[in-house]
Amino acid sequence: MAVMKPGSTGNGCSEANDAEARIARLERQVLRERMARIEAEAIAEKGLRDLFESTRRISLLQKITEIANSSNEVNASIKAALDEVCCTLGYDFGNAFMLDGENRICACDTWFVQEPQDFARLVAVSRKAEFEVGQGLPGKVVASGDIVWTRDLYSISGCTRGKEADACGLASACAFPVRVENEIVAVLEFFARKPVHETKELSWLMNQIGTQLGRVMERQRAWSLLQTARHDTLTGLPNRAILADRAQAVFASLPPDKSGMAMLVLDLNGFKAVNDRHGHHSGDKLLTLVAARLGRAIMSWQEHHRLGAKTLLARTGGDEFVLMLHGHLDPKSLSFLAETIHDRLAPPFRMGNTSLNVGASVGIATGTTVHESHDHLLRDADLAMYEAKKLGQSRTVMFTRELGTSVRRARQLEGEVRDAVTKGQFQLHYQPIFSLGPNTRICGFEALLRWNHPMRGLIGPDEFLACAEDIGALSTIGEWVLYEACAAIARMPPMGYADDAPFVSVNIAPEQFLLPNFVDQVKSALNGAGVSPSRLKIEITENVAIIDAAAAAAVLTEIRQWGVKASLDDFGTGYSSLSYLHQMPLDSLKIDKSFVAALHEPKNVNIIRAIVDLARDLELTIIAEGIETGEQARILASFGCQLGQGYLFGRPRAQWDIFGLLAA
Ligand code: C2E
Ligand code: MG
Ligand code: MG
Repeated sequence: MAVMKPGSTGNGCSEANDAEARIARLERQVLRERMARIEAEAIAEKGLRDLFESTRRISLLQKITEIANSSNEVNASIKAALDEVCCTLGYDFGNAFMLDGENRICACDTWFVQEPQDFARLVAVSRKAEFEVGQGLPGKVVASGDIVWTRDLYSISGCTRGKEADACGLASACAFPVRVENEIVAVLEFFARKPVHETKELSWLMNQIGTQLGRVMERQRAWSLLQTARHDTLTGLPNRAILADRAQAVFASLPPDKSGMAMLVLDLNGFKAVNDRHGHHSGDKLLTLVAARLGRAIMSWQEHHRLGAKTLLARTGGDEFVLMLHGHLDPKSLSFLAETIHDRLAPPFRMGNTSLNVGASVGIATGTTVHESHDHLLRDADLAMYEAKKLGQSRTVMFTRELGTSVRRARQLEGEVRDAVTKGQFQLHYQPIFSLGPNTRICGFEALLRWNHPMRGLIGPDEFLACAEDIGALSTIGEWVLYEACAAIARMPPMGYADDAPFVSVNIAPEQFLLPNFVDQVKSALNGAGVSPSRLKIEITENVAIIDAAAAAAVLTEIRQWGVKASLDDFGTGYSSLSYLHQMPLDSLKIDKSFVAALHEPKNVNIIRAIVDLARDLELTIIAEGIETGEQARILASFGCQLGQGYLFGRPRAQWDIFGLLAA
C-alpha cells in the first residue's frame, strides 16, 4: 500500500492522499463485508442447528406418539420412551417412577442406561428407589406439578442417590410428570454428564412426552377396569357379564328348536358355614379350590364323551357357578357331567390343618322351543338348582316344564305371603273346645289362622304356612297371632258360668317358640291386652322337643309359672317319644284327628286307649281333635278323654260370629 509522507504537498501529493483514502475505504468495506458474511454464516448455521434440533425433537415426539398409539402396555411404552429420550437428547440415564395411590413415588424397575458399567451403582439404587412428595427429584416434580431442571444433583437426587450420582460424574438432570387428566400418575427422570440447559423448546417437548405416555396409562386403566368388571378376581373365571355376552351370542346361533345349548347352575352347600366358622380368607381359598376342581371335572367329562361340546365356566355369585354348554348335548351325557362334578367335589378340601366337606346342588336346563333368550334358559337352570337344594346335599335336578309351573306358583305364593304380612291380610278364626260327657259345655277355643286373600278369599293355614316358613315370615305372623289372640280374650263376652272362664289356645311354630324373646312376646301380649295368663294356652308340637328339649322345657316352666297353660298338639303323628313327654312340663295332650277319624279301626282304638292311659299317669288333660260324629264323642268320653273339638261341636269361625254365639 502507498503511504503519503508527512508534510508532502502539491498535486502529486493530493493524488496520493486520495488513493490512500480510497484504499482505506475499500479496506473498511472489505472488513464490513467479511464481518457481515461471518455474521450471515453464523445466523445460517444457528438456523440450521435450530432446524436440526427441532427436527430431532419433532421426530422424537413422533416416535413416542407412535408408541403411545400402538401400545396398551404401560411399562413397555415407558421403557421405549426412556430409550428414545436418552438416545435423542443425549441423556446417560433415564428412570421411571409410579405413584402408588398413597402419595408414595416408587421406581417401577423400568430404566435405560447408555453405559451400564459406569452407572451400575446409580441404576441399582434408582430402580428400587421410593420417595415421598417433595423428596428427591421425582418428589419435587409431584410437589410442583411441573418439570424440574437441575444442576445441583447431589441435593436434588435425594440423599439416597447423591453419592452415586456424583460418582458417575453427572452434571445435569431433569424430570417431568406423566398425567392422566389432572392427576400425576408417573414421573420420568433423566441424568446427563453434559450440562443440558433448560429451554422453552425442551420443556415443551418433555411435557408433550408426558401427555403421550399419560394416554397409554389412561387406556390401560380403562382396560383393567373393564377386565376387573368382567372377570372374577378371586378365581379368575369369567363373571356374569362375560357369561351373558357369550350366552347371548350362542343363543342367537341356535336352530329354531333351540337345541344344542344347556346351562348348568351349581351352588355350594354349607359355604356360609365355612365363612362363618373359618373366616372369609378360608372361604375365598375354598372357592378357588372348587373352581379348580370344577375345571378338572369339565375336562375329564369332555375327554370321556368326545362330544365336542364347548363350555364356559363362570362364577356368577358368592358360591354360585354357571357352566354354559353348547354343541352336541344329550341328557345322558349332561347327567354324567353332573355326576362327575359331584364326584370331584366329594373328597374333603384340605386347607392348612383342617379339611372341609362341601357338596353342591346342581340344576340343569337344556334349550327348548319355549326359551326366548339365554336368560330364560339360565332362569330355568336356576329353578332346577333350587329344587336340588331342597332335596339335600349333592343332588342334581333337570328342569322340566312341570317343575317350572310348580316353582313359579310357589314363587308367586311367596310374593303374595310377603304382601299379606305387610298389608295385614291375616285373621284368626276360633273353634270351640268342649268338655266331653253328659254336661258338655264350652271350655275354650283354638285360634286358627286364616288368610283373607284379596282374590281367592279365605285360605287355610295348610296352604301358606310352609311357604311362610320358607321365607322366614312364620315368626312375624306367629307374634301377630299371639297378640291378636290375647286381644280376643280381652274382648270375649262373659259366659254363663263364672267359675272357669274359657281359654284360647294358640298354635306356636317351633321357630317362634325357640326364639330367645318368645317368653317376652308372651308376657307383652298378655300385659298389652290386660288378660289373665290362665286364659292363654299355647299349643306346641313334638318337633320343639326334638329340636331342643332342654330349651323347650325351660320356656314352658317359666310361662307356666305365670299360669299360662301348655298343650302338646297332634300327639301320635310325629316322633312321640315317651322320654321327652316326661321331661316336658305340660298341661294337656291333643290326640290327632287322624286317630279320631279312624276310630272304627281296632288298631286306632288301642292307640287312643294307650295315649289316654299315658296321659292320665302323667296327669295331663286329654283333648281329642276332629270329632265329627256323636259316636266318636261318646267313645272318646268313655275312654276318659276330657275335652274335644271338631265339626260336631262347631267349625272354626270368625271372632264376631263365635263370640256372638257365646253371648247368646
Ligand atoms: P291343628 O292345630 O291340629 O288344628 C286343628 C285343625 O283341624 C284345624 O285345621 C281345624 O280346622 C281342623 N279341624 C277341626 N275340627 C275338625 C274336624 O272335625 N274335622 C276335620 N277334618 N278337621 C277339623 P286348620 O285350621 O286348617 O289348621 C291346620 C293346622 O295349621 C293346625 O292344625 C295348626 O297346626 C296349623 N295352624 C293353624 N293356625 C296356626 C297358627 O296361628 N300358627 C301356627 N303356627 N300354626 C297354625
Ligand atoms: Mg292346634
Ligand atoms: Mg292338631
